[in-house]
Amino acid sequence: MNILIIDDDRVMRRIIRAMLAEGSHNTLSAGNHIEALSVLSYQKVDLILMDIEMPEINGFDLTRIIRKKLDHWLPIIFLSANESDNYLALGIDAGGDDYLTKPVNQTILNAKIRAMSRIADMQRQLNELNKQLEKLSYIDPLTQLLNRRGLVERLEIDWRANKRKKEELSIMLLDIDYFKPYNDNYGHPQGDLCLQKFSQVLTNCMHRPADSIARYGGEEFLIILPATPIEGARFKAEKIINALLNESILHEHSQVAKYVTTSIGISSTKFGAVDYTELIKQADSALYLAKHKGRNRRVIYQPKTQN
Ligand code: GH3
Ligand code: MG
Ligand code: MG
Ligand code: MG
Repeated sequence: MNILIIDDDRVMRRIIRAMLAEGSHNTLSAGNHIEALSVLSYQKVDLILMDIEMPEINGFDLTRIIRKKLDHWLPIIFLSANESDNYLALGIDAGGDDYLTKPVNQTILNAKIRAMSRIADMQRQLNELNKQLEKLSYIDPLTQLLNRRGLVERLEIDWRANKRKKEELSIMLLDIDYFKPYNDNYGHPQGDLCLQKFSQVLTNCMHRPADSIARYGGEEFLIILPATPIEGARFKAEKIINALLNESILHEHSQVAKYVTTSIGISSTKFGAVDYTELIKQADSALYLAKHKGRNRRVIYQPKTQN
C-alpha cells in the first residue's frame, strides 16, 4: 500500500515510517497541508496516517478538505497525543476512520492498517461491481447490443456532438420481416437464436467505432451513424440486407423469401428533424413504406412524396 504520513514533526514521521517497514508498504510523507495535498494530487495514496495537532491547518480540517477533494474513498487514521474521547469523536465526525494515540504501538498500528486495507479492498470491489452493473444496465442481455436506455444515452451524446460539428448524422431503423410467424412456427427459443444471429450480422457489417447498434424493441433495431451522409447509410443498409441473405437463416413461413429478411427505414439530419425523436419518426415512416412496398428492402425518408 502507498501510505501517506502527515505530521508536522519530522522525528515522528521518521518513527512511524520505521514502524511501517515490516508491512512492505511504500511510505510517503508530508509536513503540512500544502505538501499533503500536493502528494495526493500526483500520487496514488491508499491510506493516510494523520496527525491532528498541526499549525495552520489541523488534522480535522485537513481531513474535511481531503474528503471533499477526492472523488473516491480512502482510509484515514488519526494519530494524536490527545487521549480524550471527545477528540476521537471529533475525528470520526471530520471523516476519519480510526484513531490511535501517541506514542503509537507498532503492533496495533500495523494491525489497524491491515484491517483498513481489508475495508479498502472491499470498497474497491464494490466500485468495480457498480461499474459493471452500470454498464450492464445499458446492454440487452440477449443480443449484447445497446438496449433502449443505452440507445437514448448514445443518441443524446451523438446528437449534441453532431450539432456542434454541423455534420450529417444518419440513422437506420430495422425490423425483421414476418418474425411473428417465425416465432409461432419455430418456437420462442429459436426466435431468440434468430435475434442473436441477426445481431451478429449487424455487428459484422458495421466497422466504424463511432457507429452504434441498439436493440430498439423486440425485433426492431436502430443503428446510429454519426458523421455519415444519407448515401453512406443507404450503402450500409444494402450491405446488411445482402449479408443477411448470405447468412441464409431458414424461414419457410415468410412471404418474401426462404430466409429471414429485414426491412430498413433510413433518415438523416439533412431532412431537418429538430430533435432525434423526430429523426426516429422519419426513419419509422420510411420503414413503414419499406414494409408496404413488399419488405426485404431499404427506403430513404422522403419529406414530400410520402404516400
Ligand atoms: P412484419 O414483417 O410486418 O414486421 O411482421 P412481423 O411478424 O415481424 O411483425 P410483428 O411486429 O407483428 O411481430 C413481432 C414479433 O416479434 C412478435 C413476437 O413474436 C416477436 N418477438 C418480439 N420480441 C421477441 C423476443 O425477445 N424473442 C422472440 N423470440 N421473439 C420476439
Ligand atoms: Mg503535530
Ligand atoms: Mg416490429
Ligand atoms: Mg417485424
